[in-house]
Amino acid sequence: MSSLVQLRYEPTTTFYMSKQRATRNAGLTRRAFLPALGVAASGSVWRSIPAGGASQPDAKPRLTFVQINDLHVQEPGTTIKGYNSANEKAQWVVQEINRQPPDFVLGIGDLIHGERLDQLPRDLAAFQQIIKPLKAPFYPAMGNHEVVQREGDSVYEKAYRDVFGDQRVNYTFEAGGLRFIMLNNSGAVVVGPDIIRRRNAWLNDVLKAHPGQPKILACHIPIIPVRDEPVLAKSFGFRSYAAHDPELLALVDEHAGSIIAVLSGHLHLTGQAERKGVHHISICGTASYPSDFARYQVFDERIVMQVSQLPSALAQTTTSLHGHPRHKMDFTDAAHENAELYKVGRSEERNLTIWRKRPQ
Ligand SMILES: [Zn+2]
Repeated sequence: MSSLVQLRYEPTTTFYMSKQRATRNAGLTRRAFLPALGVAASGSVWRSIPAGGASQPDAKPRLTFVQINDLHVQEPGTTIKGYNSANEKAQWVVQEINRQPPDFVLGIGDLIHGERLDQLPRDLAAFQQIIKPLKAPFYPAMGNHEVVQREGDSVYEKAYRDVFGDQRVNYTFEAGGLRFIMLNNSGAVVVGPDIIRRRNAWLNDVLKAHPGQPKILACHIPIIPVRDEPVLAKSFGFRSYAAHDPELLALVDEHAGSIIAVLSGHLHLTGQAERKGVHHISICGTASYPSDFARYQVFDERIVMQVSQLPSALAQTTTSLHGHPRHKMDFTDAAHENAELYKVGRSEERNLTIWRKRPQ
């Protein structure tokens, strides 16, 4: 299932515009809008939009990247029950990415299934074998399955750190004028307040150090719910359907003017919600239905996100966490009127164009 429909939103006064705002701003003329774009946001390396160029498609993206997550790779032969054909799905997505390698790949958590401390290094070894042929740099983020929910616990983080390095836990890098922030919120809702405070203090430092630079924040557990909250709590069945981290949410809200999007996984469904102009995007990942990954193309004036699904032989509906057969029922919410939409997301959740903001 892949919709090629792309939404084109009009620029607004924040980095990223909502559909609602676009409608509201529809009366704003290009002439009135463009001169302000000549004023670059402090620290921003994005170019201003040339007059008349805002509606022209850019020939070539300045940056491409792919988001993968929730692969749940396991050591072959393990007796721990995981997701059906998870390794095969992960192999498929690596091959698919290699057909047109992006500048880099973000692996936003639950790369492995884990479940037990002694299993972590063995599953990570299997993941390393699968990711080895990838023809692009790989930037991992920690998911709850890499550490059995024990964020900040050096015993449980050891396997991940041994494989990826200590510098791949909470870290940041710049690409194409964007600042990418890879945040470890793998233990959200279960770890102690000290761990959360320390990690959020690190994030606060990064956000404050780059006030005017457009940012992408990647963290495994979504910061806000991407479906109606009571329904999502039930269909997911774990309290971590959202991070429940008011301090982290306040930081994202405070820096909403420069954070383009928060990229997450964990839910095993694809969706997004917008809050204060920030796009909170959660991609299903490969292990269970709808078995998605996302490609991003960064142009001077917009970011195009396109979600793709694995082939139907691998993306089996029975692996969904959000309906039959895991539950006795299927789910819908106000914006997703049938069970399929609830799992895969509406077309604008799967194909989205985010326009460059008008500098403040
Ligand atoms: Zn997870």
